[in-house]
Amino acid sequence: MIKVKNLSHSYNKDEKYQVKNINFEVKKGEIFGFLGPSGAGKSTVQNILTGLLQLQEGEAVVADYDIKNISKEMFNKIGMSFEQSNVYSKLTAKENLDFYSKLFDVKTVDSNELLNLVGLEGKENVKAGEFSKGMKHRLTFARSMINEPELWFLDEPTTGLDPSIAADIKEIIKTKNNDGVTIFLTTHNMFIADELCDRVAFIVDGEIKLIDSPENLKLQYGEQLVEVEYIENNETKIKTFSTVFPEDKKALQTVIDQHEIKTMHTKEATLEEIFIKVTGRGLV
Ligand code: ADP
Ligand code: MG
Repeated sequence: MIKVKNLSHSYNKDEKYQVKNINFEVKKGEIFGFLGPSGAGKSTVQNILTGLLQLQEGEAVVADYDIKNISKEMFNKIGMSFEQSNVYSKLTAKENLDFYSKLFDVKTVDSNELLNLVGLEGKENVKAGEFSKGMKHRLTFARSMINEPELWFLDEPTTGLDPSIAADIKEIIKTKNNDGVTIFLTTHNMFIADELCDRVAFIVDGEIKLIDSPENLKLQYGEQLVEVEYIENNETKIKTFSTVFPEDKKALQTVIDQHEIKTMHTKEATLEEIFIKVTGRGLV
């Protein structure tokens, strides 16, 4: 669905590159996550792939279209939701969607249906300018589905939203993917990446450090941890030990020998811990 070869980008067209020679492929039907801290180059890549930024160096094919010469037809097949909501404040929610739907040459989804899907039912006739940030985001998100895209670009789809809206948006993403939609998801939130993505690319300073599934990464990089709850001086204590490092193994043995154990279970490393291990950087 997406094929990117040696893609580089320099905003000022100088020797400083914000995207450096990256390569990846997104297969049909998968949710591919672009995971990295703020400023890593995620949105830059999404903007190049969706034609908002001109391709400078490298090659990219998006939904069978070469983005060197972007064809209008490509936009019939893709959907894009941006980090910043960009809706027309003077138009109502429904007018925003109706206006956008006219830009497509393909059949579009009924605006009311989309508004219901994102929990904006009853707000059809309210001007978008009167919407809260979360509502504007939902409207932008709804708009990105209007042409029933087969490839859907989502830039930080849940960032800054309250948890219940974020949960709704995650469910919609899962449902669309089950229906066969391929998704390119950009995020600095490792929980989202872990929960939704079939594969993730770790991106830092414009470079992809690795690409793999969250499951494989946890198997490969996640050292096994054991969390033990035990009684010491009549108090309950909780400690986590690695089952790999010798000093931790010894300390764990000591706790088992000397204290009453209440609970003990293995704990997987999180995607964030793995990210830090691989890239030397945090996700914020
Ligand atoms: P992310 O989406 O991962 O947070 P971006 O792709 O937005 O990162 O930004 C990558 C880098 O490019 C950052 O260093 C950012 O400051 C820089 N950048 C983004 N947009 C522009 C622009 N329009 N002009 C110059 N530099 C930019
Ligand atoms: Mg971004």
